[in-house]
Amino acid sequence: MQRDVLIVGFGLAGWALTEVLKKQGISFVVVDAQKNSSSRVATGIYNPVVLKRFRAVWNADALMEHAIPFYMNPHYRDSFHPMPIHRILASASEQNNWAVASDKVDLSNYLNPNILNSTNFNVHSPFGVGVVESTGWIDTNRLLKQSQQELEQQHCFVGESFEYSGLDVSGNKLHYKGWRTKHLVFAEGVGVLKNPWFSNLPIIPNKGEWLIVSCKGLGLENMLKSSVFVVPLGDDIYRVGATYAREFKNNLPTQEAKAWLIAQFKKCTALPFEVLKHKAGFRPTVPDRRPIIGSHPEHKNIWCMNGLGSRGVLWAPYLAIGLVEALKDVQKISPSLDLARFK
Ligand SMILES: Cc1cc2nc3c(=O)[nH]c(=O)nc-3n(C[C@H](O)[C@H](O)[C@H](O)COP(=O)(O)OP(=O)(O)OC[C@H]3O[C@@H](n4cnc5c(N)ncnc54)[C@H](O)[C@@H]3O)c2cc1C
Repeated sequence: MQRDVLIVGFGLAGWALTEVLKKQGISFVVVDAQKNSSSRVATGIYNPVVLKRFRAVWNADALMEHAIPFYMNPHYRDSFHPMPIHRILASASEQNNWAVASDKVDLSNYLNPNILNSTNFNVHSPFGVGVVESTGWIDTNRLLKQSQQELEQQHCFVGESFEYSGLDVSGNKLHYKGWRTKHLVFAEGVGVLKNPWFSNLPIIPNKGEWLIVSCKGLGLENMLKSSVFVVPLGDDIYRVGATYAREFKNNLPTQEAKAWLIAQFKKCTALPFEVLKHKAGFRPTVPDRRPIIGSHPEHKNIWCMNGLGSRGVLWAPYLAIGLVEALKDVQKISPSLDLARFK
């Protein structure tokens, strides 16, 4: 049982790595505990604009150029849902800010300068909506399920928890439970908090919750953004979310979050609706808001890819390409993403 790379964790980080390795003909096996996956409950929106402040996310164009081809792959067609975001403008001053922002070089590809009035009479938007283009959402749960099934058929997926004490680093190859590998990549999301090899990483779990609601007659064909996102899933079923909480008791959905999400949805529309589902997950976030990739300071063939809690959909392909280049010793990791910044 010998592979070039052993990956621990199959959220979007682990998945994007497998996509890059497959393309390059590098052999791998994934070990995944199949629990507490943030990616499997993610709303899955890809959007290169910070819609609170109307500015582009760091490295926006490069993230989009790397990410979109991964999701546009015809193989994952059923999980890819390109659609604009309609940002509800809250005041005349926001209308003005939108006009200024849409004129900026780094935003002009994404923000349509024309503010739309009354696009949907069931949506409360007295100051109109600004349209964000080139955005959409990925059905991350569906995509990961499909990809996992394929990897299982190819004997590249082991559905169990990785036991850190079982890793033998004494030789020039790494050994784990009968597997021999040149490189090991940890991509365990918040699970990294139990990883003794990367215990110094400042990963902070941030709890997110969303609702699925049925709202007959709303008829949205685009995503809506006010204090929350409203994402159309088809047949007037919508995902409403998400919340952000740094303090929490456990991983269960809470009544407080549900009440807050219902209140936000009611601000968008006066139509009656029914809550069908309520879910929660933990985003792996980093204080400087940038993901983390890099190798262990002593064991250079032990790597990590983490901190995708914010815009993980956009980041995963970009990071996976960079990590594989570093693993092959072709290109160094950018210092602004390298875990060495947390020495
Ligand atoms: C409610 C919510 C909404 C979100 N919405 C969006 C959004 O709209 N757009 C966006 O871009 N991002 C969104 N995100 C964030 C983002 O998608 C995820 O945080 C990101 O994808 C994290 O991916 P990951 O692969 O690093 O971790 P995860 O998806 O958590 O995957 C880690 C995997 O590692 C496994 N694992 C952990 N420890 C071990 C171990 N010891 N052995 C074996 N396996 C292990 C886990 O079982 C899991 O399957 C959202 C997150 C949440 C919670």
